[in-house]
Amino acid sequence: TSQTSTNSASTSSDRTYLRVDSFEDSEERDDDDNTWQEQWNQQNSVSLKEWDIPFDDLEIMEKIGDGRFGTVHRAQWHGAVAVKLLKENYLDNEAFKLEVATFKKTRHENVVLFMGACIKPQAIVTSLCKGNTLYTHIHQRRDKFNLNKTTMVAQQISQGMGYLHARDIVHKDLKTKNIFLENGKVVITDFGLFSATKLQYDKNYGLEIPSGWLCYLAPELIQVLQPCRPAKDNMPFSKASDIYAFGTVWYELLCGEFPFKSQASEAVIFQVGRGMKQTLANLQASRDVKDILMTCWAYEPGNRPDFAKLLTLLERLPKKRLARSPSHPVQLSRSAES
Ligand code: ADP
Ligand code: MG
Repeated sequence: TSQTSTNSASTSSDRTYLRVDSFEDSEERDDDDNTWQEQWNQQNSVSLKEWDIPFDDLEIMEKIGDGRFGTVHRAQWHGAVAVKLLKENYLDNEAFKLEVATFKKTRHENVVLFMGACIKPQAIVTSLCKGNTLYTHIHQRRDKFNLNKTTMVAQQISQGMGYLHARDIVHKDLKTKNIFLENGKVVITDFGLFSATKLQYDKNYGLEIPSGWLCYLAPELIQVLQPCRPAKDNMPFSKASDIYAFGTVWYELLCGEFPFKSQASEAVIFQVGRGMKQTLANLQASRDVKDILMTCWAYEPGNRPDFAKLLTLLERLPKKRLARSPSHPVQLSRSAES
């Protein structure tokens, strides 16, 4: 965790936004257009109602944790659920509705089940994930996964992420803390919620970089982190930046630690921004395994594979070999996390 600078940040692409934008950009706005937009708005708000959960219907129980967006509680609502209570003013109501409109389009085995949302206060209700996050497995319990297991986990992540991307949903916050393992099944949470403008900025300390965040950021995202300016809402998140983050998850699975372990934020920002990568010299793994890392971490977003391609690459990996050295994983400097 450390602080550096301000950044120009944020929410990039949501298809729904794009539709509105392109509409507004069009030169001729006649009555037909207005009608169309009204209808579209209406449909949107009507369909939102189906997912509207009156806050009083939730029986909020203990807090599970604090996150960047708010707090997560266990709750009862027709059974056990997780409720993410967003910080006040995290999003204005319209932006929140658009995000919810994104969530409700998702149905996939490896993507957390969206159950509904409350508008006042803003909260998102999903199924309660059992089991631990990959973060807990890898960094806290220090569980070792062999290559078979590692590959299976990576394939399921790729399937869930490939599904989200097919629906034009950019995750923006793919990290081991947002991936649960329930009896061997991967469940991805927290997609599409990240708004970098909500990064804390302090006049004296600069931008607060959340712990364990930097190593998931692609060079094009790192490059917009700026020390002395307040955050803007334009971090260039993309499908390709999700792929970069997946590369980091793959690295954690293989090595049991974060890339750029123990390096200061500034050093990570400097290196990644210039296209330098975590060395794999000490990673005992086959060429193919390392190639996957390197292609996901490609400097140019356009040179990174998509999840369909990754699935092919993962499928080709030989089964049964150990991915990391049994004695110790990659030894570098000690970890940055940030
Ligand atoms: P982060 O992802 O950075 O840990 P969050 O606010 O997303 O922060 O989560 C806070 C805590 O709540 C974490 O411990 C996370 O594992 C847990 N959590 C989040 N969503 C769920 C869920 N759907 N089911 C169970 N636990 C959850
Ligand atoms: Mg989370």
